Amino acid sequence: MSLSQGRAYLAIPGPSVMPDAVLQAMHRASPNIYEGELHDLTHSLVPDLKDIAMTDGSVAIYIGNGHAAWEAALANTISVGDTVLVLATGRFCIGWGEMAAGMGAKVETLDYGDAATIDLARVEETLAGDKEGRIKAVLAVHVDTSTSVKNDIAGLRDVMNKVGHPALLMADCIASLGCDRFEMDAWGVDVMVSGCQKGLMTPAGISFVWFNEKADAARGDRVTTYWDWRPRVKPEVYFQYFDGTAPTHHLYGLRTAIDLIKAEGLDNVFDRHQKLAQIVWAAFEEWSKVGPMQLNIADPTHRSHAVTSVGIGSPNGDALRKWCEHQCGLTLGIGLGRTPADAFFRIGHMGHVNAHMIMGALGTIDAGLKALDIAHGPGALVAASNALASRA
Ligand SMILES: *Cc1c(COP(=O)(O)O)cnc(C)c1O
Repeated sequence: MSLSQGRAYLAIPGPSVMPDAVLQAMHRASPNIYEGELHDLTHSLVPDLKDIAMTDGSVAIYIGNGHAAWEAALANTISVGDTVLVLATGRFCIGWGEMAAGMGAKVETLDYGDAATIDLARVEETLAGDKEGRIKAVLAVHVDTSTSVKNDIAGLRDVMNKVGHPALLMADCIASLGCDRFEMDAWGVDVMVSGCQKGLMTPAGISFVWFNEKADAARGDRVTTYWDWRPRVKPEVYFQYFDGTAPTHHLYGLRTAIDLIKAEGLDNVFDRHQKLAQIVWAAFEEWSKVGPMQLNIADPTHRSHAVTSVGIGSPNGDALRKWCEHQCGLTLGIGLGRTPADAFFRIGHMGHVNAHMIMGALGTIDAGLKALDIAHGPGALVAASNALASRA
């Protein structure tokens, strides 16, 4: 017997909770791909995707996940033998760097470990030392989903400008777009990648690369027909948007998801994520006062508003996740990229999430700590309730 029957809650950092309206929009017969509504709908997505990224640049849509967008961004900019500087604050930027290495780039990595933000002074030193301008691109992750750190991308651009380094600034916003504020043009980002299944609340399967003229001009020797972003942003015929059949149902889903974001207002979306994150942190800070629990990122200004990573000792992370899922229908995220992985867990609070869902998740975790006899501070739910009451 278990209390998990009922509507399940997938509280992992992507895929996120899919709004019913998005699922309903996708539940339809295949549309005409030659003309009509699907074409109009696709054209309408382009300006909205630029608004969400806060850019006047271009956006290419790919049928693929975030890894596809990583490869697309590199394929259009990097030549074999180019050097890229990877600023690692968790598993994801390391993964992007490994992909660059696989495509023939020389990868230099500044690794800040699993619980810290990018140290801009070290970046400045490294770029200032690159007198010959070997470094073609700087790769950074806005929110690293494995550690839940949020990096200062605008500050990174300031450092590059200060040193006068010509490298491209490339940012992974797969976890942060539509959750944590990101301003591509104002922050001086040349290339940004994201996917549809996190803040954009659409089932996994399409991803995006936004780029400016400087990035397009940097075009390297690795660009291939399928990954080339140029026909996708200036298609002469509709099929060039996707270099083949359109991802028909995903486009309907994404249209609806973006309509939800527009109806709420992007600033309100950011505000909601911030407040929900603060409620989550209020609970974790109380739990952490007794026993093994620890928020991975100590400084709240460096924490993501989309995901929270927590250390809790091995094997408590796995035990708690399993208890929450099997007893209560709440799925938490694994300790991805951490050692040992079962000493960590993550909770996603990205996308289509509201206060009662967060309160339910926190109440479930609190019960799991008690059921599993994991020591914890007693005041977490009161703290979360107070945090909600004072912010609603
Ligand atoms: C989810 C994620 C990825 C990988 O995206 P996939 O769709 O799983 O390929 C890359 N970077 C970050 C920061 C992510 O959160």
